[in-house]
Amino acid sequence: MNKPKIGIVGAGFAGAVLARELVESGRYEVTVYDEREHVAGNCHTSRDKKTGIMIHHYGPHIFNTSREDVWTYVNRWAKFGQYVNRVKAVTNRGVFSLPINLLTINQFFGKSLNPSEARDFVGTLGDQSIKEPKSFEDQALKFLGEDLYRTFFYGYTKKQWGVDPKDLPASILQRLPVRFNYDDNYYNQKYQGIPLNGYTEIVEKILDHDDIEVRLSTKFDPASRSEFAHVFYSGPMDGWFNYRLGRLQYRSLKFERFDEKGDFQGNPVINYCEEKVPYTRIAEHKHFTPWEEHNDTVCFREYSKLAEEGDTPYYPLRLNSDKALLQSYMNLADQESGVTFIGRLGTYRYLDMHVVIGESLDLAKKILATDPSREKWPTFSVRPL
Ligand code: UDP
Repeated sequence: MNKPKIGIVGAGFAGAVLARELVESGRYEVTVYDEREHVAGNCHTSRDKKTGIMIHHYGPHIFNTSREDVWTYVNRWAKFGQYVNRVKAVTNRGVFSLPINLLTINQFFGKSLNPSEARDFVGTLGDQSIKEPKSFEDQALKFLGEDLYRTFFYGYTKKQWGVDPKDLPASILQRLPVRFNYDDNYYNQKYQGIPLNGYTEIVEKILDHDDIEVRLSTKFDPASRSEFAHVFYSGPMDGWFNYRLGRLQYRSLKFERFDEKGDFQGNPVINYCEEKVPYTRIAEHKHFTPWEEHNDTVCFREYSKLAEEGDTPYYPLRLNSDKALLQSYMNLADQESGVTFIGRLGTYRYLDMHVVIGESLDLAKKILATDPSREKWPTFSVRPL
């Protein structure tokens, strides 16, 4: 008996993990479409022909998660090298350690505080009159005060998001910890690493299955929907509807490559927090594989801009106007049948790789536990609002 055919749009982690889970049940055949010529979406990596350095073409991707099942899952496909993300910040007051930690606080204020003294001290800097922080700026002023906010966050955030931090949600700052010890690990998660052979190889392996057909350089034609029992769509949600209500806003990134000899900056990522420096950060990619040796080095200056037609969308902006439009698209999506929106673009949310993988594993479980002839599959992997 022929298995029902499922269409998956997008060969990033969201689509690939879901495809694999569905075919491994033995119940479905899957066709995966991607308009790019490579898999892995914005996690795409490949070795530079000239230097052999592994390049993260859409910016640095450092895998970190606290979900045991997600860590086990990715380790099924690749060996991960041990890696701890440590970021430095160039500011108008000097170079400091990020995320803001005890070293940053002591050096910035010229003090030698211990953890509890530092906590009390930063407490006195915060603006106590802000009870419920509504914006990025509120959140920063309440917990860090004016000096730290202006030096580390104001300029960088304006460059990164293109709007005043007053107009951004507090949740963006909540991604970054503030620590009252000397731990300068950028992430709070239990597991962290970088795959020895990059992310593209992982996604290729995930998709390498007799019941998965991958069509690269192929834009999915909504007219071919009827060939499939169901479609999972990880492209931009508004794109599915031909942008008929308008466009959801994204930030896009531009990378300016430059090659040097030896060690250019002594660290994988250095942020430039001043508003007057036009780029947000410089990434030196050979430092993402500290277990490799390279004499040459390849760096990228990273610039952020509003995504215009034809630009690759990276970060969903999610301003209030976007949220209103998102709600209208969600209403349209809820009236559709036979399609589920998944991943960062499909659900218009700021998602890290490990979250996307976790959501696809969860969605597959849900789907495989239902009888599609009787129950409607969910419209979204996770509802965006
Ligand atoms: N941020 C900042 N200065 C920095 C690093 C981060 O102002 O040196 C702000 C910025 O608004 C950024 C947010 O904190 O979008 C979250 O930082 P994270 O490193 O999580 O951003 P990512 O690059 O991972 O998207």
